[in-house]
Amino acid sequence: GLAPRRGRGRGRGRVQGAGCGRARARARGGPVWPGLAWPWRHGRRGGGSGILYDRPGQVGKDSFGNDYVENLKKNGISTAFVGQTTDAATGTASIVVNSEGQNVIVIVPGANLLLNCEDLKRAADVICKAKVVVCQLEITPAVSLEALKMAHASGVKTLFNPAPALADLDPQFYTYSDIFCCNETEAEILTGIPVGNLEDAQKVGRMLLERGCKLVIVTLGAEGCMMISVEEPIPKHVPAGKVRAVDTTGAGDSFVGALAFYLAYYPKLPMEEMIRKSNCVASVSVQASGTQSSYPYRKDLPRDLF
Ligand code: ADP
Repeated sequence: GLAPRRGRGRGRGRVQGAGCGRARARARGGPVWPGLAWPWRHGRRGGGSGILYDRPGQVGKDSFGNDYVENLKKNGISTAFVGQTTDAATGTASIVVNSEGQNVIVIVPGANLLLNCEDLKRAADVICKAKVVVCQLEITPAVSLEALKMAHASGVKTLFNPAPALADLDPQFYTYSDIFCCNETEAEILTGIPVGNLEDAQKVGRMLLERGCKLVIVTLGAEGCMMISVEEPIPKHVPAGKVRAVDTTGAGDSFVGALAFYLAYYPKLPMEEMIRKSNCVASVSVQASGTQSSYPYRKDLPRDLF
């Protein structure tokens, strides 16, 4: 099936998958991201900096799938739970950006939608012993929800990004997400409130808290983020640095990936500081073209981010 998606000048180009894993359970305690969206490159090019992410996921037995798995390995990302199926082609996303920066993303989920809850069970050990579990909606929503529930039951921090947005999102997503992070387009689809300024973002945040979220982050492109939480109900704007954006496709994934990293490895940082740092990482990604190719390696980032 084709799922056209429209972004407002920004987009989330992503190729992601759904997983079936091999039955070897390993726990490493880093972020776990069911599906194959690859948010942020942590290792050195050529790998070798240790496994920091686990990906229960699935790709097709085709050249895209082979390349994808190789690419993950090259970057030190575990593929222990990435299956290759002959039942569907590797998921793809075609991104068209016009001269005004408007984009339309056509997703062909392919193998992504073959991930099922049994596959998650095979990866239960890594999910339940992870430091953070990140989910979004490019795999079957029920499978994402199940991963959040598994993590939640084990006291694992959950970070949810409702992309691509669903107007009829299962309300359990709000309660099983420790952090609910959406962009302006997703915020509008979920709440009906068009987000054109900081006040709108605050309204959206409050509405999502009322639905059961504990902490909401609305990403606002060049404006950074709005954060609101049950603990700090006065919304806080965390601005992004001024940069010359070349291509903002994938900025949201870059932000979420960076946030997952800080949650996992610097859990004691105040949330506002994690968001500020994640803004910095994402703002680096918008200064290069492409999606994954625009994500910085750790070695390319300023030292004060660590
Ligand atoms: P999405 O890619 O999901 O549409 P956003 O466009 O809201 O997400 O961007 C996510 C994050 O990327 C922002 O919160 C900000 O940190 C960073 N970012 C995006 N666009 C810019 C920009 N033009 N300048 C600086 N940072 C940006």
